[in-house]
Amino acid sequence: MHGLVIRSTGSWYDIRDAEGQIWQCRLRGKFKYQDLKVTNPVAVGDSVYWEIEDETAQKGVINDILPRRNYIARKSVHKSAHAHLLAANVDQAIIVATLTFPRTSLGFIDRLLVVAESFRIPGVVIFNKQDLFDDEIKAYQQELVDLYNRLGYTCFTTSSVTGEGVDTFQKLLQGKVSVLSGHSGVGKSTLVNTIAPDLNLRTNEVSTFANKGVHTTTFAEMFELAPDTFIIDSPGIKELGLSEMEKEEIGHYFPEIRDLIGQCRFHNCLHIDEPKCAVKEAVEAGKIAMSRFESYLSMVGGEDNRR
Ligand code: GDP
Ligand code: ZN
Repeated sequence: MHGLVIRSTGSWYDIRDAEGQIWQCRLRGKFKYQDLKVTNPVAVGDSVYWEIEDETAQKGVINDILPRRNYIARKSVHKSAHAHLLAANVDQAIIVATLTFPRTSLGFIDRLLVVAESFRIPGVVIFNKQDLFDDEIKAYQQELVDLYNRLGYTCFTTSSVTGEGVDTFQKLLQGKVSVLSGHSGVGKSTLVNTIAPDLNLRTNEVSTFANKGVHTTTFAEMFELAPDTFIIDSPGIKELGLSEMEKEEIGHYFPEIRDLIGQCRFHNCLHIDEPKCAVKEAVEAGKIAMSRFESYLSMVGGEDNRR
């Protein structure tokens, strides 16, 4: 039978079958050792083949995983040569940001977009709490929305107070598996509750990717908001950084820098202070946004990628 892994505790997995029934499953013995490079062979979001072991107790066994479209992983804290899978088959990483209350920096947004790109997951940026802003801030925000749209990212503004953008948010999630990220307090849980009141998430319960708040969930889990519409909450996603990235790799995850590959004088140009650098020229010509270039420089030069 086919099923979806909706919860992972490390020792067992909750599988949702085609009828929406939940089964507590263990892994077939040989399974654990199939891939020596991961600490957990099955992740939330995985599609699996499984069979019933005990009908009355709703228990089963996972026999096999279907190929993953993508996954989010980080280095295992315990075994550094191993990866720990945080989520699989993610359709989009949605970054919820607020210019103030709390402040989300552009560097933070760009870093998350880079992480999403590195896992081949489409990134989305939402500027929330529009009800708090005056026209001047809104005009600046519109420039940012245009910038991210031009780069190919879905980006729009929302407010749970006025309802602005809530329809767009709902349509965005519809039929997809999403990971929500962003600082604590930007309004992630409130937005989700607005479109799925039955779920009744405690505010701050949905944390993810880069949430700086205290996080109490110890299990990776996915919530069904509507038919075929899920959000994944996985502890550890919030700590994701650039630690496993090579400096040379980072430019590939900026679409506007990626577009210029091969045009610098040096093939291994890091676009910092090398002569005849096509990226620096594009920045000077106003073709690459200064904020994006600054984000890039801080990632290449920062400590973050050398931890
Ligand atoms: P999370 O930590 O990202 O899940 O954020 P919460 O959903 O818990 O929201 C944090 C705080 O911001 C709460 O006090 C919410 O009532 C408030 N909040 C959420 N959305 C909005 C919004 O669109 N506008 C305003 N003004 N406040 C909001
Ligand atoms: Zn260059």
